[in-house]
Amino acid sequence: MRRVAVILLAAGQGNRAGGAVAKQYRLLAGKSVIALNLQAFSSDAVGAADGLLIQPVIADGGADDFQAARGAFSTLPPVPGGVTRQQSVLAGLEALAPHHPDLVLIHDAARPLLTAALIARAIDAAASSGAALPVMPVVDTIKSMDAQGRVGATIERMHLRIAQTPQAFRFTSILDAHRQAASAGRTDFTDDAALAEWAGLTVTTFEGEAWNMKLTHPDDFAKAEAHLVAQLADIRTGQGFDVHAFAPGDHVMLCGVRITHDRGLSGHSDADAGLHALVDAILGALAEGDIGAHFPPSDMRWKGASSDQFLQHAVARVSARGGMIAHLDVTLICEAPKIGPHRDAMREAIARIARVPLHRVAVKATTSEKLGFTGRGEGIAALACATIRLPWKE
Ligand code: MG
Repeated sequence: MRRVAVILLAAGQGNRAGGAVAKQYRLLAGKSVIALNLQAFSSDAVGAADGLLIQPVIADGGADDFQAARGAFSTLPPVPGGVTRQQSVLAGLEALAPHHPDLVLIHDAARPLLTAALIARAIDAAASSGAALPVMPVVDTIKSMDAQGRVGATIERMHLRIAQTPQAFRFTSILDAHRQAASAGRTDFTDDAALAEWAGLTVTTFEGEAWNMKLTHPDDFAKAEAHLVAQLADIRTGQGFDVHAFAPGDHVMLCGVRITHDRGLSGHSDADAGLHALVDAILGALAEGDIGAHFPPSDMRWKGASSDQFLQHAVARVSARGGMIAHLDVTLICEAPKIGPHRDAMREAIARIARVPLHRVAVKATTSEKLGFTGRGEGIAALACATIRLPWKE
């Protein structure tokens, strides 16, 4: 049984891609670039019986960002990268050495759209040739230019290929090659196939994928997101409803926001009717039961619990099904407290907890014109609607 490891390179700062967040932590269709990579490498379809050993290499000080971005996928503890890509790869190889993998795939996290089929081809290629990289044919005509910007020559493209990752190697060969390059003072190889050639290894190729593109410019993110969203054609809406009664107290929790009030809300958890209605709406869209089934009130773990974790759980269920949240909409029904002044804070809290953009979250409020239990000020009711997108499966 061969043991296959992966080095996931996520140490770059990604300045060319724009945005305040490093590109490996940006969200695409509701998932971080890191999580999309981990989803592909963790797929059963890669054909590794006991799964791949994934060694992330991250920017120094980026452990919290990585932890938040990895979602439910498990990896080895991340190690910090070096100044150059080559040094980051060596850091990953040295961290993997005590695990004695037979093969290693070295992949740039900036290519998150790779498929399990490509990963399976990489493993086969490494097993049969010892060193291989995925390539794509060059379809455009290529010109070389002189210093004055004039065309020097038209390059024969038949022998040219575009290099991608994951590049795949017998572990001990590429570790030795990297150690040799480092002791020879080389730090500037931009891919591992080039370093392997330098060390005298024979490098073969296998078929890459058009969508295994490197996210570099802002447009690439839009293209990648459109590609991912198009696969989520099962669009579902779920509804939720919740009520909590007023009780003595000095504040209420609503949609993740603490509001000072002359009464509190009674409940087993923090009695956040807004978040509870949202959780049921998401579970309804998934057809996965209700909040009481996932978090039984009889379970003492949830006594006084913050409802943030209930919403995080429902969102994690959507991710586990390979889907995304398209929209969340809550209506709070009460005479008091006044919701309007807290509406923006509530939208921000829901967006933060559910990890969705603010423009995909709505909070509304109404009274019931002094009618019924909400009108008499006996409690607060909440209605919610969740729209989610899942991969289409019959
Ligand atoms: Mg409730």
